[in-house]
Amino acid sequence: MRALKLVDANRLELREVPVPDPGPGQVRVRIAGAGICHSDVTIMAAGMEGSPFHGITIGHEGAGYLDALGPGVSGLVEGGPVVIDLMWACGHCRQCVQGRSNACQTTGTRWMFPTTPGLGPDGTMAEYMIVGERHVVPLDGGTLPALDPAGAAPLADAGVTPMHAINTVRDRLDAGAVVVVVGLGGLGHMAVQILRAVGAARIIAVDANPAKVAQAEHLGADLALNADDQTAARILEETDGFGADVVFDFVGVDESVALATAVVAPEGHLRLAGLGGGSFTYALNGVNAVPWGVTVQTSYGGTRTDLDEVVALARRGLIHVETTTYPLDDYARAFADLEAGSLPGRAVLLP
Ligand SMILES: [Zn+2]
Ligand SMILES: [Zn+2]
Repeated sequence: MRALKLVDANRLELREVPVPDPGPGQVRVRIAGAGICHSDVTIMAAGMEGSPFHGITIGHEGAGYLDALGPGVSGLVEGGPVVIDLMWACGHCRQCVQGRSNACQTTGTRWMFPTTPGLGPDGTMAEYMIVGERHVVPLDGGTLPALDPAGAAPLADAGVTPMHAINTVRDRLDAGAVVVVVGLGGLGHMAVQILRAVGAARIIAVDANPAKVAQAEHLGADLALNADDQTAARILEETDGFGADVVFDFVGVDESVALATAVVAPEGHLRLAGLGGGSFTYALNGVNAVPWGVTVQTSYGGTRTDLDEVVALARRGLIHVETTTYPLDDYARAFADLEAGSLPGRAVLLP
């Protein structure tokens, strides 16, 4: 089979490798779609010899069909469509049992994320992949329509990550609230739809790309703004000078963090989920002060519960992923388009 291997720093190669066999408690998934995430670009930069990423099949976002079940696997049906949970958490440690599997203490450390495919174990950008039976979520069954795994692949990360961040502020999404989403790429375009589906708050969406701004109202935003030097003033005007109850930053560069900080209301919530390399400066008072009572939280991935929830929202037709698809052989063009920043929604490779 073909697999996209990280053979050196910033060097990918499509290689022919043996089709892997599932061991006890594992399944083999025939990948139908593998989403490309900005994090893949960061991982690629660390592909040199000696790095834990050297030689791996990249991709942490994927879905496909159950192709083979290993010994002892039960409760799954061969051939069925599944999405792959990207948190290969232990399920038993204190963090896992208390519902924080994205901070699993057995498979992760204080500074290292839990085991994640494409960031250690072989990932999704291949024709087949081995996954523990606990880490696949069926996309069919019951009376709701099944999801096509090629289109649903981005739910695994671009869906789960905003779902997780939004679930930390569900009690603040009342009809009188204002929520700001900064960045309408893979994660942000899902965030707007999820916010529309789970809450009544007014949604203001912001992006630097006019094409993405134009798409925002179609996704469910009440107001869409171009990011420029007037954006903060516009948001404050829309909130009687008080600021927004919740601000999500899915970009994470200095400018977006500064905008988020400039428009959050007292007792509001800042959720920093973008990994653009920016920094957040905190001061009790003065130029960089945040209003009293603001909660600031970074966000890493999501839990199995978050994944179940985005799958349910998608199967009910309340959210959908905008995808641009490429054959696996065309990976170089897909990565180039991603880095150019002009893609609507998510780029998905089709093995
Ligand atoms: Zn990612
Ligand atoms: Zn754990």
